[in-house]
Amino acid sequence: MKTSTPQPIHLKNYQPAPYLIKTVYLDVSLHSSETRVTSRLKIVPNKRATKSAKGGSKAGSKSVPLTLDGENITLENIKIGGRALDAKQYSVDEKSLTIKSPPTKSFTLEITTICDPEANKALSGLYRSSGVYCTQCEAEGFRRITYFLDRPDVLATYKVRIEADKATTPILLSNGNLIESGKADDAGRHFAVWQDPHPKPCYLFALVGGDLALKKSSFKTKSGRKVDLRIYVEPGKEDRCDWAMDCLKRSMKWDEKRFGREYDLDIFNIVAVSDFNMGAMENKSLNVFNDRLVLATPDTATDGSYEAIESVIAHEYFHNWTGNRITCRDWFQLCLKEGLTVFRDQEFTMDERSRTVARIEDVRMLKAHQFPEDAGPLAHPVRPASYIEINNFYTATVYQKGAELCRMIHTILGEAGFRAGMDLYFDRHDGEAATVEDFIKSFEDANKVDFSQFKLWYEQAGTPELIASFDYDETKKTAKLIFEQVMQPTPGQSRKKPMHIPVRMGLVGKSGKDLPLKTKQGDVVTDGVVHLKKRREVFEFQNINERPVPSLVRGFSAPVNLTLDMTTSDLAFLMANDSDLYNRWQASQTYATRRIIEMVEGLRAGKRLNRGKHFSEALAITITDEKLEPAYRALCMELPSEADVARVIGTDVDPGAIHKARQAFAKRVATDLKETLKGIYKSSSGNGDYAPDAKSAGLRSLRNSALLLLSKIGGEEQIKMLGTHYRSSKNLTDRSLALMLLVDFKHDERDKALANFYKRYKNDHLVIDKWFSIQAMSSAKSTLNSVKKLLDHELFSIKNPNKVRSLIGVFAGFNSTGFHRADGAGYNFVAEQVLDIDSFNPQVASRMLNSFRNWRTLEAGRQKLARKALQRVARRKTLSPDVYEIVTKMLG
Ligand SMILES: [Zn+2]
Repeated sequence: MKTSTPQPIHLKNYQPAPYLIKTVYLDVSLHSSETRVTSRLKIVPNKRATKSAKGGSKAGSKSVPLTLDGENITLENIKIGGRALDAKQYSVDEKSLTIKSPPTKSFTLEITTICDPEANKALSGLYRSSGVYCTQCEAEGFRRITYFLDRPDVLATYKVRIEADKATTPILLSNGNLIESGKADDAGRHFAVWQDPHPKPCYLFALVGGDLALKKSSFKTKSGRKVDLRIYVEPGKEDRCDWAMDCLKRSMKWDEKRFGREYDLDIFNIVAVSDFNMGAMENKSLNVFNDRLVLATPDTATDGSYEAIESVIAHEYFHNWTGNRITCRDWFQLCLKEGLTVFRDQEFTMDERSRTVARIEDVRMLKAHQFPEDAGPLAHPVRPASYIEINNFYTATVYQKGAELCRMIHTILGEAGFRAGMDLYFDRHDGEAATVEDFIKSFEDANKVDFSQFKLWYEQAGTPELIASFDYDETKKTAKLIFEQVMQPTPGQSRKKPMHIPVRMGLVGKSGKDLPLKTKQGDVVTDGVVHLKKRREVFEFQNINERPVPSLVRGFSAPVNLTLDMTTSDLAFLMANDSDLYNRWQASQTYATRRIIEMVEGLRAGKRLNRGKHFSEALAITITDEKLEPAYRALCMELPSEADVARVIGTDVDPGAIHKARQAFAKRVATDLKETLKGIYKSSSGNGDYAPDAKSAGLRSLRNSALLLLSKIGGEEQIKMLGTHYRSSKNLTDRSLALMLLVDFKHDERDKALANFYKRYKNDHLVIDKWFSIQAMSSAKSTLNSVKKLLDHELFSIKNPNKVRSLIGVFAGFNSTGFHRADGAGYNFVAEQVLDIDSFNPQVASRMLNSFRNWRTLEAGRQKLARKALQRVARRKTLSPDVYEIVTKMLG
């Protein structure tokens, strides 16, 4: 908790640690409320640090104090070279332990501390929940286990002895290989010793102890080594790991093929736990997962969950090379492991599933989460320049935009050039803690290119606006494109330099085919990519014999906001003809958004506009085209979300009007296409067994998207259809979709389905999370009251992050009618919950507060109410640094 005002840490002040820790021996004696940790560290003065310190003395000649990080632990004992220090030789405060004058040569430091896993509800460091001991050390949790140089540029090898009661804690795991195990001296206790030969920063340390069931398999690497694969889960859930295991093997294989990266130990463990602050954690050879991202059967997981499991299993596995073997020098470089690894997991999904569908899904995520961040008070560069609490920087900007930067490098260099840069990066920095500069330099050196301008993407916050205009000259047969890039100011950055923006494009002729892009100089743009480097760029293409329709930023080749004045008939033409399927989809979104915004403006002016007919006609062509993948057609049927529309409107946003307009537009489209949608619904009803693969999931999503759109008509016929869909469903995908659509209606079918779902799944905590979410998402007026009531439900627990996210998080982040209620009750409710949760789990609390990030874009009335709620949070005297930082920035 904050006692004085928390101070920011700046990248420019980075200094190497004055000491390095070469080896770590940990002896952990697990007891639920009093765990004793003895650590024996081999410490050496850091020659680099003494060299870089201005006016510093020669390395090792003079003793420099050693300050170790430590929080919420009690010091029992401290020795150097086996001799206990007396009280004058060190000092301890709430955050650290300082040894005043340690030896000038290498020495062994032994520290014994006590921590209380049972009382640890922040779920950072060592904690115990549902009887399982578990650790989470990224970013700064290791200091809650023992005193340490808790920073990623201190790499050590670890040997860990764990001791625990054998009956309650039969499984003992840590990183690396198991080298010894047996009975301990104390009655009923046993031990295990694990050794990890790879040097690692302490944030990758992990320890798990508990009564867990095991699913085993193995993988043969490309050089022929056998790796034991093990997934540990709550006993009784072993039959739910098959998919996760399959995903793991495919990830291992893919990384060998696509990046030439082989796994480096004989064992790879995954542990699924039910109380976890995040999705999963890539600890070396011992990945710890939120169980919702491991466990799956057709009856307990939706297609969306299967896909998420595939992507997160891959993500954490890929970290073994991008994050673990090469780690980050400091937390400012977080994108170096996260942006890159997200890019890798996105490519994996694209290779395993459909490239276009995966790309659309990724861009939707980026626009829904990162674009608003970039446009609001929390905007920060992909590599931030300062932070108060690093846990607040596990953001969409670092992850998703970070991945887009890797994708642009890939677009600029091509697959071979990108791979050459990656190979050089692995060669140069394996076993090291690297920086963004090291990463960029590898691509420059491997490809003989200059990326100094490109590097601005890592330093400048905000989404560039790309304003394009197009002109066709009938007599000269030329097509002219003018681009201007505009960078709006963001907090701390008022002026910005132009960036290198790769724009993939095409000029689509009447026949639907792309015309050759021949420039004035006679060059042909063969890869379809033009490079913008100045604030204003003009491209003139020759020999264009007919007026084409420009298709710009194909495949979303750069994370920009494109403005191009196009007629709706041009948009309809692209919807039907663009060879770039991503842009076909984008054209339909742009078209629909434009119509909905007209209706919003009409509503606010007191007029009821009825728009949609021509859009419906254009949409019908795509969704009935059987040459297109079902999953793609399903995506095209999904209209832009209320948040999408709000983002495009940008200022003076009225979420109530947007909701009404979008509902009315959807009803119009659904009514126009009623028979078509019914036809799709019928023809895509699968009758075979459930399979989680992309193709089967695509058919289900086509059918469900048709149902979703039809439900917008909202009549008795549609509600009955939803009821039937619910009752006849054979898997959770169909069942939960029907329930999700039913909760918007006041109807008997709704109440029956909700009760049935609860009865069916009340013993299944993961599916019950969905039951909470579905109710929290309802656009019904009574939703806030239902959510408040559900807080007292016997299956709800405010201490469990999954439950909090399912109920409060979904309400705050995904229910725009409820959260943005005109009376401010939604804001007040979320603010109250943030304050409550902050008293025991700051990380989860500050995430929840993020739902306010765009409060300044709201219309005046709501803006006032949101500010009041935020001020209430800010007034609390005992805020964590996490919440303090977010709320101060939001109000600043
Ligand atoms: Zn990651």
